[in-house]
Amino acid sequence: MPAYKRILLKLSGEALMGDDAYGINRATMVRMVKEVQEITEMGCEVAVVIGGGNIFRGVAGGSVGMDRATADYMGMLATVMNSLALADTMRQEGMTARVMSAISIEQVVEPYVRPKALQYLEEGKVVVFAAGTGNPFFTTDTAAALRGAEIGAQVVLKATKVDGVYTADPKKDPSATRYSQISFDEAISKNLQVLDATAFALCRDQKLPIKVFSIFKPGALKRVVLGEDEGTLVHV
Ligand code: UDP
Repeated sequence: MPAYKRILLKLSGEALMGDDAYGINRATMVRMVKEVQEITEMGCEVAVVIGGGNIFRGVAGGSVGMDRATADYMGMLATVMNSLALADTMRQEGMTARVMSAISIEQVVEPYVRPKALQYLEEGKVVVFAAGTGNPFFTTDTAAALRGAEIGAQVVLKATKVDGVYTADPKKDPSATRYSQISFDEAISKNLQVLDATAFALCRDQKLPIKVFSIFKPGALKRVVLGEDEGTLVHV
């Protein structure tokens, strides 16, 4: 039995790169989709927010000197490309997914309409929320917190390269240990970076727990959904 009936999964764009320098690594994406498929087969309702950092990041790289809002809109469009790729990979693996965009590009993807998203989830379809929040100066972490709250997700699952939140950077400090769980207040007082500040504040206000885990660890997503000791749970 899954511990969560409905989840919001946040995947970073960079997670799609695999070992490549940019873009979408096909094998990596198929592997991730299969992890998601496992939990949908357990009856878990899944919504996904995917980043765009593998294609474009508003505040860095190609955007040097650019108007910030314009760069951010480019970043949001990058998330649309990732969302389409992800949903199509899901289709190829026999799943049913719908992409909904926060900015209207109706010839490409349907617009985000909350009741429609809820209906898809109830029907067992995976919903991929594209274009972040639809606003510049935000991130896809914030989109994940926002949509997670809107759809009544029981948890925001933040997929990272590391398998949880550590007492120190495990790459630099071999004695660093993983928190199995930590409260929002403790995370703030210890200055631990879980989600970006806006997203973190929204989850805290809404009492929406966050689970940080590694999407690259085989079976980790499933263990998280089963409520096992995997990753780090940030709770009220
Ligand atoms: N972005 C934005 N508003 C949003 C979500 C994203 O402006 O609500 C832009 C922003 O420029 C960001 C880029 O889209 O840098 C890609 O998103 P993010 O950096 O969150 O992707 P990730 O790091 O998860 O790949």
